[in-house]
Amino acid sequence: MGIKKNFLFLCVIVLAPELLAKECRYTATVWNAKLKKVVDQITVVKDFSALSRHEKGPFGCTPCESDQIDLNLPFHPPVKICRHIASKIERVLIQAHEEGYPIKKIIAYRPGLSKGPLDQHGNRTELSNHSFGTAIDINPENNGLYGNCKVWNSTCILLKDGKRVLEHPLTLKKNSPLVLMMREIGMKWGGEIKGNQKDFMHFSHSGY
Ligand SMILES: [Zn+2]
Repeated sequence: MGIKKNFLFLCVIVLAPELLAKECRYTATVWNAKLKKVVDQITVVKDFSALSRHEKGPFGCTPCESDQIDLNLPFHPPVKICRHIASKIERVLIQAHEEGYPIKKIIAYRPGLSKGPLDQHGNRTELSNHSFGTAIDINPENNGLYGNCKVWNSTCILLKDGKRVLEHPLTLKKNSPLVLMMREIGMKWGGEIKGNQKDFMHFSHSGY
């Protein structure tokens, strides 16, 4: 009897990580485009094999918590980011920081339905690049999100985070070493995207 019990116990221990690894779990905010705010939060728990096309992001990353790991930086508290890009992002951030661009604040993994078509309530229905841990915001206090900003000039309107002052040492520009290094690892800068918005803190595979 005792041996049987122990055997069962062992089986559970051996199999449990395998079972857990197949489960995808994430909690995402829901952005309402009409109200221009987060109106809801959804938690998704499903098998990895049941992930939809929209739950598969760039670099083989998913919104699943188990696909996210901590960025290990000596100058910043741990931040979750997709495990497939973590080491190259880490390298770039450490290099930029050591070469004189202080990295004060980072936001990376942050699941949210803030893209794509609207449902009948005006809610967005697709996951942003931050949802996959494949977008990273750097020093938002000095690199805000601007609208009415096809090209950078005085008519651009600050929508979120800090004002962009060109002379400030934390302001990111086209030729900033950090922007150049990010580009080298396949991360485009939100300050160079087409359209009316410029997201100066933001980096992702597409810039969006
Ligand atoms: Zn961002």
